Amino acid sequence: MEVDIEPGSGFCFGVENAVKIAEEALEAGADVYCLGEIVHNDIEVDRLKKLGLVTITYNQFEQLRDCKVLVRAHGEPPSTYEKAKENNITIIDATCPIVHSMQEKIKRVQKVSREEEGQIVIFGKEDHAEVIGLLGAAGEKGILITGRHDIGKIDVTRPVRLFAQTTRSKTEYEVVAEIIRLKLEQEREKHPGNHLKVHNTICRQVSDREPRLREFSRKHDVILFVSGMKSSNGRMLFDVCKKENENSYFVSSPGEIDPGWLRDAKSVGICGATSTPKWLIQEVAGIVKKM
Ligand code: SF4
Repeated sequence: MEVDIEPGSGFCFGVENAVKIAEEALEAGADVYCLGEIVHNDIEVDRLKKLGLVTITYNQFEQLRDCKVLVRAHGEPPSTYEKAKENNITIIDATCPIVHSMQEKIKRVQKVSREEEGQIVIFGKEDHAEVIGLLGAAGEKGILITGRHDIGKIDVTRPVRLFAQTTRSKTEYEVVAEIIRLKLEQEREKHPGNHLKVHNTICRQVSDREPRLREFSRKHDVILFVSGMKSSNGRMLFDVCKKENENSYFVSSPGEIDPGWLRDAKSVGICGATSTPKWLIQEVAGIVKKM
């Protein structure tokens, strides 16, 4: 049986950077708290916990004083930085540079939007940490839409600046943007100022994986997709594999592999989300080879 790892699998650049920053801070001997889980992968969270990283909730953050808190790749809204300043907390900022630049762009657009009475619309997942940060940057102008069913929240008589959470599906974003464009166009005669500006904010570290995974899934008899259950790009990328190859299985750890899945397979492909560490994918490949 051939066992093949998708070459682009493993952490994306933003998560890899955040984990490296956490490891360096821990090596320096400091107590480091991380606001929320550093990555949507329980096994990697456990590994860092053993090195001393303490994951805290937002309620616990409110109580902390005079310490170091790591902000993960998803970023945080401005209110978190304000609270840290108030409580003499040093922020170790591991916000992904791509997310950071989107937050800054939203802040700039917010000023323009105020003048033209526009709206900043974020297409993302409710309560996702990155989305909370983006909505925080948008201030009172921000509107969250989680799918096309939410488009009714937008006032189509006013200008719209559209942004997407970095890990959303590119295809879905294009569909949502097109529906909004058509709705605004229908009102254009009466409201000539209601233009739409679509910002291309889907991260290429995720969107480039979609076509690669499609091709990879077609090449193999069985696909094992390794990801934490809470990873939103994990769910989205697994769906991409499942559409191409119905013998695709989602596993969070090597212990979840059912040997029955592999019985008649001549080739097994192993891949994962942007939050899945490469070492875990290699571990899964090792177990499959032994099986
Ligand atoms: S998916 Fe892209 S934007 Fe999100 S953390 Fe990774 S590199 Fe950064």
